[in-house]
Amino acid sequence: MARPRAVAGCRAPDRRPVSGKGSQLELRREQFSAELLDPRHGFDRGRFPLEVRWDPLTDQSCRLLPASSLPPPELQDLDALSAETKPGCPFCTERIESETPRIVPELWPEGRIRCGEAVLFPNLVPYANWSSVSVYSPRLHLLRLDELTPSLLADNLMTQVTFARAVVEHDPSSRWVSVNANQLPPSGSSIFHPHLQGSANPTPTTVQRLLAELGPAHVREYIER
Ligand SMILES: [Zn+2]
Repeated sequence: MARPRAVAGCRAPDRRPVSGKGSQLELRREQFSAELLDPRHGFDRGRFPLEVRWDPLTDQSCRLLPASSLPPPELQDLDALSAETKPGCPFCTERIESETPRIVPELWPEGRIRCGEAVLFPNLVPYANWSSVSVYSPRLHLLRLDELTPSLLADNLMTQVTFARAVVEHDPSSRWVSVNANQLPPSGSSIFHPHLQGSANPTPTTVQRLLAELGPAHVREYIER
């Protein structure tokens, strides 16, 4: 395959046909209750329901507690955080060219990968052999989830696909690729300006290994259903 020299038309990759249809994916859940003598109600006997659900793909389980069991997430003033972080933001238009890294020329001579408004560059704090950051747009320092349009998302994902293809061609051992996002501080983003993070490693993460062991047919069936 010829190495992509540009993100031609920002075209989405071809999809392979779905296989593995016909079997059933079980959405398993079980409900339990705990009993204790509750000091908040004169040590009367109290019953506390809870539910365990299993992921039909990986069999990982999670526990659901009744509403009000835990304090609600703290609300954050995104407008105030945006105004506070914008003056020094390295991903904004005024600084992105001078303050973000460039890709090594043997991988991508242009230094950064662009599609639409999206721009991809190496992560200054690498956590993989090949580690990237891609912003939806240098002009969008604040981008709420309900403002994220299909084209902004598609263009940003395409920079990640292009980066991954270039890495795998240049360094075939780094075939374990992932694209991740923490959208704004409420989901744990360390830099406010909305962005994706990509990585390519010679070894899988735990979840990549678990998914790979399932086989592609099972994963595709899960996604389609
Ligand atoms: Zn910014």
